[in-house]
Amino acid sequence: MQPKISTIPLIKLASGDYLSLQVYKFQGAKPGKKAYIQSNLHGAEISGNAVIHHLIADLIKLDETQLMGEIWLVPVCNPLGVNQRAHHFSSGRYNSYDGKDWNRIFWDYEKTEVDIAEFARSQQNLSLPEIQTNYRQKILEQFQTLIQTTKNQSQTSYSESYRTILQSLCLDADYVIDLHSSTNQAIDYLYCFQSREESAKAFLLDYGILMNNYDGDAFDEAFLKPWLALEKQLSSLGKTVKFEIESWTLELGSGMKMNPESVEKGIRGIKNYLACKKLLNLDEFPLPATSNHPLKLTLKSQAKRYYAPTGGMIQNRVELGSSVKTGETLYQILSFNKTENLPQIIDIKAESSGVIFDVSTNHTVNQCDYVLSVMEQVST
Ligand SMILES: [Zn+2]
Repeated sequence: MQPKISTIPLIKLASGDYLSLQVYKFQGAKPGKKAYIQSNLHGAEISGNAVIHHLIADLIKLDETQLMGEIWLVPVCNPLGVNQRAHHFSSGRYNSYDGKDWNRIFWDYEKTEVDIAEFARSQQNLSLPEIQTNYRQKILEQFQTLIQTTKNQSQTSYSESYRTILQSLCLDADYVIDLHSSTNQAIDYLYCFQSREESAKAFLLDYGILMNNYDGDAFDEAFLKPWLALEKQLSSLGKTVKFEIESWTLELGSGMKMNPESVEKGIRGIKNYLACKKLLNLDEFPLPATSNHPLKLTLKSQAKRYYAPTGGMIQNRVELGSSVKTGETLYQILSFNKTENLPQIIDIKAESSGVIFDVSTNHTVNQCDYVLSVMEQVST
């Protein structure tokens, strides 16, 4: 099966050069669900590109009859971010022009002038597929008005233009997967929305963060939040439903590198997920153990970030992926002074038990710089 490959112009640079997106579209023999997968929205987070490369290579080997529906793949989905450098480092987490985090710019249907409660009331006697079709239509219609406004290029920032192009590729999808890694260094884990925990196991990752709060600005949130809002409204009317619509952010290892183990986990997880969702018909997936996979979830509010209480250099930090107990030393700060005193070593203790899932790359800290993150009260 060969993909249809199309390029989409994004931006003309001052030098006269253009930046573009390239989309790889695999279409199965029969229509079905659509999965949309992108990587490298944050410039340093490159591991998903290797995952997409492997997926393309594997999908090409399949017969059209093994794909029900379609899979769209967009590697290096943020060229400005990918190409950004500060000295030797990939610094493309923020748009250097307006300072915005590239993954906090997206369009959320729920924040437009819509009355989802009223829509839910109008649909409560319809079937789930009918409601889904009608709601999708509403979202796409509203999105058209956004597209119209961005057509006036004299009034459109790059963030607005870029998000519109990216979201136009996925708003009609059923499954959205946004491949990230830490911009620093991290274990492999995913972000999971509440009520989608069972599906999360299909990615076969060991850890996840459960999104008990979100504002809709991130790519995964912007896609799913309006659907979760409708589910909530229907539930309040006594109609408990779950749309077969999901979005995920996979965090595959560390920034500025493509750790083979993280890449392998990403490929395996996505294949297993797509097989569980019956998009892909593969011999080796889904794995029978999927429903029993021990995914340890922690609430987003219990993923705690530690910042340096004073300036200095970090030493003897606990290993990434290790567990700590309350009161144990997380790391030390070698602290110098200009008060005619000797340098000091300061122990920083864990304020609660948990798993170290993300650590800073830079071991030099100004006061209040980020040092590490702990998943507290991890549960299975
Ligand atoms: Zn990211």
